[in-house]
Amino acid sequence: MSAAKSEHAAPRGLAVLGATGSIGTQTLDIVRLFPDRLKVQVLTARRNAALLLEQALTFRPACVVIDDPKGYQMLREVLAPKGITVLQGEEALCSCVQHPEVEVVVAALVGFAGLRPVLAALEAGKQVALANKETLVAGGALVRQALRQYGGRLLPVDSEHSAIFQCLVGESPQDIEMLTLTASGGPFRTRPLDTFDRITPEEALCHPNWSMGAKVTIDSATMMNKGLEVIEAHWLFELPAERIQVLVHPQSIVHSMVTFVDGSTKAQLGVPDMRLPIQYALSYPERWAAPHARIDWAALGRLDFEPPDPMRFPCLPLAYEALRRGGTAPAVLNAANEQAVQLFLQEQIRFTDIARLVEMAMEHLAKPGETPSFEHLQEADREARQYVLELAGAAIH
Ligand code: NAD
Ligand code: MG
Repeated sequence: MSAAKSEHAAPRGLAVLGATGSIGTQTLDIVRLFPDRLKVQVLTARRNAALLLEQALTFRPACVVIDDPKGYQMLREVLAPKGITVLQGEEALCSCVQHPEVEVVVAALVGFAGLRPVLAALEAGKQVALANKETLVAGGALVRQALRQYGGRLLPVDSEHSAIFQCLVGESPQDIEMLTLTASGGPFRTRPLDTFDRITPEEALCHPNWSMGAKVTIDSATMMNKGLEVIEAHWLFELPAERIQVLVHPQSIVHSMVTFVDGSTKAQLGVPDMRLPIQYALSYPERWAAPHARIDWAALGRLDFEPPDPMRFPCLPLAYEALRRGGTAPAVLNAANEQAVQLFLQEQIRFTDIARLVEMAMEHLAKPGETPSFEHLQEADREARQYVLELAGAAIH
């Protein structure tokens, strides 16, 4: 499509799920850069009604959805008189993505909660710009089924998967030999292993290269994030675990690479700024000129790579194991991890307990089988969370 043509096309209608979070707010930064090309039609959040209100007043969507009942009352009082529909709860999240004015659904919420709305969007034939990797980890087979059946499209937002997606433009899937996902190694790449038991949430929340939401930041510190991304890559690019490898790259400049059958490797590089992959998911198949920072090659000087250490980061081999086992194993891994991360952030368990709890949950609860139904996945998710809570000795709410 030529640039001239896109300038005259109607703006793409967006639904931003998780608009108040790290990816959500950066998505809105991109909308601010391209007001003629993107139009926000739906904004959603769990609890932050004040920020959602501010966003709604700025972007004037057709609809906003919030989970929190108090926030819902407040938003309805202010926004309904302005002609903005205000809805509450999970059902509303699933119906708003099917709004006729929505072309692209940006899935920027956290965790398993993203699966139902993503499936609802695909069932309505929408494009989904996916940041919410947990959706593919737990329900990858269901998502692929929905893509086949309804003809929607998935556009990766996660920087590694966006990099691979960009490397694959103009290539044939059968020519791929290996995907290499890069990982920063997080804040504990060089910390003495015998001090890992004493890692505090504050230390784990300090990522060297990226500023992100709390859950994905802890996942980066344990490297579960990279494990989840291996499973995400499996479902996005339809390759087995043996053809997806992980390489630690502390500078986070090479976002990932693809090696082809002729021995050639393509990589995508850029400054560590999520607005780049978010923008690509929204502009694809075009590129839109933007003032994001460029790499200063001379100042950068060097790029380092090393293999990940499985002793230091046991969550990574656990995720490979879940992918190989299939059935409900990835959903159990994901749910146990979500629960364990929450307990760690509440200072109820140690950093090193996260991997232990996930491993035990997988051993006890994972069931084999080809494509678990949504109800099976929901049950596996609930069971794994409860199991982790019980093991951790925490009160069940
Ligand atoms: P965040 O915690 O900053 O924001 C999450 C958003 O989702 C908020 O708007 C919140 O209100 C909403 N939300 C959370 N739980 C919800 C629920 N149960 N129901 C409805 N809404 C809910 O998270 P984030 O860092 O923006 O991450 C979002 C997703 O993107 C995650 O899956 C993460 O792994 C992925 N991701 C994030 C980054 C990043 O740089 N932040 C990079 C790559 C991938
Ligand atoms: Mg990533």
